[in-house]
Amino acid sequence: MAAVTPMMEQYLQIKSENKNALVFFRLGDFYELFYDDAIIASKVLDIVLTGRDCGQPERAPMCGVPYHAAETYISKLIEKGHKVAVCEQVEDPKTTKTIVKREVVRIVTPGTNTDIKSLDSGRNNYLMCVYESKEGCAVSVADVSTGAFTALDLGADKVKVSDEIARYSPSEIISNCSVELSARIESIFGIKPGSHEAWAFSYDNAYKKLCSHFGTLNLRGFGIEDEKRVICAAGALLDYLSYTRKTALTHITSIKPEAEKTFMVLDVSSRRNLELTETMRDKKKNGSLLGVLDFTRTSMGARALRNWVERPLTKKPDIEKRLNSVAVLKESVLLREELKEYLNTVLDIERLMSKIVFGTANARDLNTLKSSFENLPHMRRLIKNFDTELFKEIYEDIDELEDIRSTIGEYIAEEPPVSIREGGMIKKGVDSELDEHREAKMFGTKWLLELEQREKTLSGIKTLKIKYNKVFGYFIEITNSNIQNAPERYIRKQTLSNCERFVTEELKQIEDKIIGADERIGEIEYELFMKLRQKISAETTRIQKTAAAIASLDAVCSLAEAADKYVYVRPGLNENGVIDIKDGRHPCVERMKNVLFVPNDTFIDNDADRLLIITGPNMAGKSTYMRQVALIVLMAQIGSFVPARYADIGIVDRVFTRVGASDDIATGQSTFMVEMSEVANIINNATNKSLLILDEIGRGTSTFDGLSVAWSVMEHIADKKKLGAKTLFATHYHELTELETMVDGVKNYCVTVKESGDTVVFLRKIAKGGADDSYGIHVAKLAGIPGDIIRRSKEILKMLKANDIAGLGGGTSDSVTYEFSESRESSSGKKIILNDLEELDIDLISPKGAWELLFDIKNRLKNLDK
Ligand code: ADP
Ligand code: MG
Repeated sequence: MAAVTPMMEQYLQIKSENKNALVFFRLGDFYELFYDDAIIASKVLDIVLTGRDCGQPERAPMCGVPYHAAETYISKLIEKGHKVAVCEQVEDPKTTKTIVKREVVRIVTPGTNTDIKSLDSGRNNYLMCVYESKEGCAVSVADVSTGAFTALDLGADKVKVSDEIARYSPSEIISNCSVELSARIESIFGIKPGSHEAWAFSYDNAYKKLCSHFGTLNLRGFGIEDEKRVICAAGALLDYLSYTRKTALTHITSIKPEAEKTFMVLDVSSRRNLELTETMRDKKKNGSLLGVLDFTRTSMGARALRNWVERPLTKKPDIEKRLNSVAVLKESVLLREELKEYLNTVLDIERLMSKIVFGTANARDLNTLKSSFENLPHMRRLIKNFDTELFKEIYEDIDELEDIRSTIGEYIAEEPPVSIREGGMIKKGVDSELDEHREAKMFGTKWLLELEQREKTLSGIKTLKIKYNKVFGYFIEITNSNIQNAPERYIRKQTLSNCERFVTEELKQIEDKIIGADERIGEIEYELFMKLRQKISAETTRIQKTAAAIASLDAVCSLAEAADKYVYVRPGLNENGVIDIKDGRHPCVERMKNVLFVPNDTFIDNDADRLLIITGPNMAGKSTYMRQVALIVLMAQIGSFVPARYADIGIVDRVFTRVGASDDIATGQSTFMVEMSEVANIINNATNKSLLILDEIGRGTSTFDGLSVAWSVMEHIADKKKLGAKTLFATHYHELTELETMVDGVKNYCVTVKESGDTVVFLRKIAKGGADDSYGIHVAKLAGIPGDIIRRSKEILKMLKANDIAGLGGGTSDSVTYEFSESRESSSGKKIILNDLEELDIDLISPKGAWELLFDIKNRLKNLDK
């Protein structure tokens, strides 16, 4: 077999070291991809697949993208889940006789992408590292585009990994985890976590990596010295970042470990059901809680507010700290207006800093930075008026950065070009050599004009012109009609259809001077610019601290704005478990068009009113009401005012939600198995300080099955010795209202409706007591079901009631027996299974989900046969 060409040999070597990534191989002005990489990229990027001779009988498949447009193409590949290794020429092709040396200078992955254009400015782009050992887990999280870096020990409970993934929604996860944990991560993240060198996860290496990165002797200053797992997770993550970026990550200036107990843990389904940051239906921010609260003016503020919404607080002083500041800013309408104006002028300082640190910022970016600093002194002056702890901190943290602002102002021209190689960025008076060359260049231009004038006179050709282009430089152009008058000493350069182009000795000399000056100008400006960028880069810590302060300021301002605009009230906070809301509203539903929202009261505690059973016909407003309570509690703990006339909130440690199969069909997870595993999760993890929102339990199976599971779950939750958590429970099983008389702490409520003649009017008002259970039939009638069917339904209802309720009065579920014949149970059971299968959307189910469903069906069939 013939040997491959030397260049191809170099390529194959580099490819073999970067098997997991698509290699962007720099050839002149292009990045080329070869072989399988080329086939993949040409498909994803929709670019032409060609071929290249490489010394083999078959040409190598090849495709390429121009280097200046590479970021966009890379981002597209990253979005589709690929990694890209960018391989550059690392020596000047002019200085080498053999093949140019090439090296991979960075590997771009979803979690390490810093292309600002492709990132969402309103959210962090997190890379997460999950460390697993026999004893437990820890996670670390970083955003290289801003420098954020944090870590959290999760202890022995590996289930918590899912909650952290849900909280951060990282764009990439790396881990050293076991097959089991990997499968768990995949089930909620969608893809398996990536791997990284095993040694990077070892304690010794991780410890060393962190110390050498931060330039410290130990990790005491960060409060993680004794946190072994946190160190392993954080060290491995940093190592992976260094491996992908291949440059110093000086903007990651510290690690801020999190203490688990200071934040509320919210599981995946609660986040989804409560629509904290996106709606369930179309995954949009609009219509979510964040969508309602977000009046931020800066990208940093938008990210901070999102982070606040993603992790409500649990410590009263922390919450009060935010509430105090929101209160002040809500009242000071004029100062808030002024502050908003200032915030409007602040651009994404955090991401600009990462560009500066990575050396991709141009002169325009520096000017953007400068103008973002412009109003810092005004903001500080304004904040000084506010006497709260948080505002004092913000005041202290904002550095006016006057020195940096004026340095940029002294150096950089008002409207610099995009390129940093061609001059035009640096102001006059910065560097004397630079100014001399500029003068020479200016003189050159003057000489050219004089020369042009002189040649016109000498030759008598009035239309003679001196022109310039990139290929030929300067030349004298004479049109064909005057060509006979061209002097002898003109040297012919180029002949076009309507003119001839010439040079002269004198013109060449001037040209050399101009071009020489131009080259030097480019070089000097580049050097000056690099020095300035370096200087700013060295101030990263100060600038980042300021950026973080602005972010908090903007988030507080946003909450104040929402509170003012939507007439929210400041919630009181208590630690005795009472949640008392007067005229509460659902923050998102009340914002919808054409909704005249009906407010409702809520009283729930850990005592006589700890489990509220809510009944009422379909569409009455049960789900809305329960979510409203959960959202008001969450908003309070975020530090926001709440939609109510009055609210006193007993701080909860967690909020759990479970939404019934009927409401959950959109996600394609309507199997009874999923429902039950969610209930199991709640029962196993909730405490008496938690708030539970259970919207239908037991719907995904046969009536009596479902009813009995719901019944016994309620008994368990209400039992103070077992759980005793505050719970709102909506059900269409009217039978469950019986629990009020049997179980301590249970109270019945219903969403009222009014019958007027044949129709039902939804009043949306919550009232004490159970609903009249025949509303289902009323609704059926409303919907146009014929009269005889309605009559027959009423008869059947009567019969059913007489038959089963009697048996339920006995107390615990153990003693309940249902008087149904075997065959009836069995055939209705099978029908339900068939129903489930019919409703199942094959396209939406994961392989694992399919397996679980099969398992579930087998079990259900087995139970039916018994
Ligand atoms: P249920 O869970 O009882 O079937 P939902 O909570 O889904 O009912 O409410 C049905 C619709 O009624 C909601 O989409 C909402 O538009 C409207 N709604 C619910 N509660 C209220 C309220 N308090 N005020 C006004 N409209 C409401
Ligand atoms: Mg509902």
